[in-house]
Amino acid sequence: MRLNERDDVPEEMDKRDYGSLVHAILARFHVAHPRLSAYPPQDLIASLRQLSQEGFATAAAEAYLAGIWQQRWQQHIESYVAWALQREALGFQFESAETPFKRDIEWAPGQSTRLEGRADRVDRNGEAVSLLDYKTQSRQTLKKKLDPNAEDVQLTAYAWLADATAAGFVMLDADKVDNLDWQDDLPAAAAKEGERLRAVLADMAQGLPLPAQGAPQVCKWCEMRGLCRREHLDEVSA
Ligand code: SF4
Repeated sequence: MRLNERDDVPEEMDKRDYGSLVHAILARFHVAHPRLSAYPPQDLIASLRQLSQEGFATAAAEAYLAGIWQQRWQQHIESYVAWALQREALGFQFESAETPFKRDIEWAPGQSTRLEGRADRVDRNGEAVSLLDYKTQSRQTLKKKLDPNAEDVQLTAYAWLADATAAGFVMLDADKVDNLDWQDDLPAAAAKEGERLRAVLADMAQGLPLPAQGAPQVCKWCEMRGLCRREHLDEVSA
């Protein structure tokens, strides 16, 4: 609905900035070491520390709390390298980072809308494409996102864009870095996601009202709660 208050000018680094910075550092790290097993683990750890130092130094020039976030990330570097080596040993080869995808959704004959996205990381295991999304959220939050009956559509939408057969979150901020994968039939869930998008776009073209987005976690903080249809939806379903 394009409704929101003006954003404050950010003066400090927050968790989202931290996540973005670590994403960029990991992209540089994997592009520089596409086959991790070609290097001794200690060299990989040293390289990731160096790249992290450089990345956070740039952030520190604008946000003095960047050093605290850097300390937090430094604690996870060894665990991250151990996890990445283990994943490669299981057959998942790094292919690309920050990978753009796009796909046209034809919602009526001759009418289409382009969906674009950028995957944090793409691996290949033989012919199979596996997507990874780096996250700094808790295991509990991420597990909820993986519930096929929940409203989070990130992995299924990306899987549809990329024709991926596997996808998961990497818990960067956990004591032990690990991935949490989509457990059900991902291609089937992705196809369903593509069909849902097509149907929503077709409905929009006809001027049909959209259901309120309604993810409770988002609505809880939304500045427009009370103005939008969400409250009405709650009353109807109560
Ligand atoms: S309260 Fe929820 S449904 Fe309403 S505008 Fe905010 S995010 Fe959307």
